[in-house]
Amino acid sequence: MAAVELRGLVKRFGSFVAVDDVSLTIDHGQLVCLLGPSGCGKTTTLRLIAGFLEPTDGEIRVGERVVSSRARTLPPEQRNMSMIFQSYALWPHMTVAENIVYGLRLRKMDRDTIAKKLAAILATTKLEPLAQRYPGELSGGQQQRVALARALIVGPETLLLDEPLSNLDANLREEMRFEIRRLHDEYRYTTVYVTHDQSEAMTTADLIAVMNAGKIDQLGTPEDIYARPESEFVARFIGAANVIKGTARDESHVEFAGATLQVVGAKLTAGQSAPVAIRQHEILLSTQAPTAQQNTIKATVTRQVYLGMNRDYMVETPDGTSLRVTTPTETAVDKGSEVWLTLPPARCRALSR
Ligand code: ATP
Repeated sequence: MAAVELRGLVKRFGSFVAVDDVSLTIDHGQLVCLLGPSGCGKTTTLRLIAGFLEPTDGEIRVGERVVSSRARTLPPEQRNMSMIFQSYALWPHMTVAENIVYGLRLRKMDRDTIAKKLAAILATTKLEPLAQRYPGELSGGQQQRVALARALIVGPETLLLDEPLSNLDANLREEMRFEIRRLHDEYRYTTVYVTHDQSEAMTTADLIAVMNAGKIDQLGTPEDIYARPESEFVARFIGAANVIKGTARDESHVEFAGATLQVVGAKLTAGQSAPVAIRQHEILLSTQAPTAQQNTIKATVTRQVYLGMNRDYMVETPDGTSLRVTTPTETAVDKGSEVWLTLPPARCRALSR
């Protein structure tokens, strides 16, 4: 049985639909990221799971229990969930240790058990030397670690994280991603993690649910989402792929800018418009006409930027489409030059929507 299940979840604010028929099954011990641009409904979905909001329609199940439905919403404190907020929400007048054990004290747990659990969590979160400090005496990353320790110590059935790293600087954010994944591997709590940051989702998640306008557009492993996007939205949002608008010649070939491209991915119907995604570093750029004709397109360089590790090109195909291409630094071609692009068939992914 699933640990957490959303069935046809809807949340309206007046006439605005923030969460639009979302269904999602999360297995025990899985970490699922809700990933998407600002305003797509991630936080609203998380708040519905936590019980801070009541759904307009649909239901949420935790194990066998229905915790939210139109008829009845169980309050947050009866859900056995821990939530970590962007702001950490630590008590400023309590030490690190007091903050961490606060939830256990509320549950009237005995002193010895609390002390044992505290020692264990201080060790795993590397907070032992800071146990007697106050939050005001900690860096952002250390405060975040305290918030994590406090959430984990109560042994929640479900852990909910709302943009937990957004207040940290870039370096620390990167380090903490690995830390969150490490703690997850150790504790294996069923976790829902909200973020708009693709790398954060790729590092931490077992499964990523990419959300757009209140709906889950695609659900899959980080590799599925990156290497096998199904929609134009996912292809562009994850890794900023180029999307070519061609016309299907048959189920695996697309006519585009006077060329024929062999593609993989969605099965196509001849004559229909066929969006095809290809990443900028997977297009080969050359000043020589390639011997093979298939999957090659003539183009003109409209911009070239030297980036140190590579060069970033903008090129225009004969039909006026702009494509971005990343090449090794040795490939230096001036603006205005004619080039040939080779789009390897295995990298041309036909999209179904
Ligand atoms: P962000 O990354 O910016 O936090 P998000 O994907 O988490 O975005 P939500 O906070 O879930 O987005 O909001 C989804 C939409 O619902 C937004 O357009 C937001 O303005 C709207 N919304 C959220 N809460 C309310 C509310 N209480 N009343 C009215 N509209 C709301």
